[in-house]
Amino acid sequence: MAIRFLLFDLDETLYPRAAGVMQEIGRQIRRYIMREYGATWEEADSLARRYHQEYGTSMRGLLLNNDLDVERYLAFVHDLPRDLLQPNQALDALLAELPDEKVIFTNADRPHAERVLAQLGIRRHFSRIIDVVAVGYVPKPNLAAYTACLRLLDAHPAECVLIEDTGRNLAPAKDLGMTTILVDGNPTDQADYKIPTILDLEPIIKTILATQNK
Ligand SMILES: [Mg+2]
Repeated sequence: MAIRFLLFDLDETLYPRAAGVMQEIGRQIRRYIMREYGATWEEADSLARRYHQEYGTSMRGLLLNNDLDVERYLAFVHDLPRDLLQPNQALDALLAELPDEKVIFTNADRPHAERVLAQLGIRRHFSRIIDVVAVGYVPKPNLAAYTACLRLLDAHPAECVLIEDTGRNLAPAKDLGMTTILVDGNPTDQADYKIPTILDLEPIIKTILATQNK
C-alpha cells in the first residue's frame, strides 16, 4: 500500500529537546495542579509523573480522576515564553523536499501547535493539525488516539509514517501497521528507523517510499 501521510509529532520532534519547551510545559502543569487542587510542588510533581506514566499524559489522568476543566488546563500549560524557538530554515527546506501529505499529530492542543509551527517557520508544510481535542482528549500512546487520527484522515495504517521522539508513542502505531521513525529517542526504544535529529529525515523517507510504493 502506498504511503499517503507523514504524521509528525510536534514537541521535541520538530525541535530539539534542549530548546526547553517541554520543561516549561512540565512546570506549568505542576503550577496548574498546585493552584487548582491546593497541592504542594512535591505533590503536584508526583501526581503529574504518575498520571503521565499511567495515562500517557498528566491531562488524561486529571480528566479521569480530578474533574478537570480541560480547555482551561490546555491553555494554561501551553502559555509559554515566546523566545524558546527560532525559525529553522534547514527544516523548512527539508519539508519542502518531502512528498505526501504532512500532518501534525500531537498530544498538545491546536493553539500551541500553531505557535510552535509559526515560530519554527514551517507552518505552510502541514495540511492538518490533529490535536488531543480532535481525538476526544485521549492522548498517545492510547490506541484510541491512533484510530481516531486514522478515521479523521480516512487513512489505512499502512498508508502512514509516524515520526516521533517518544518511543512508547510509536509502539501502538507499529502494531497497527504504520511505519515508525524514532527521532532522538532512547537506545532501548523500538522503531522501524531511528534518526538523531529531524534534519536526518529525508533519506529515510526516500528509503521507505522506495520500498513501500513498489
Ligand atoms: Mg514529542
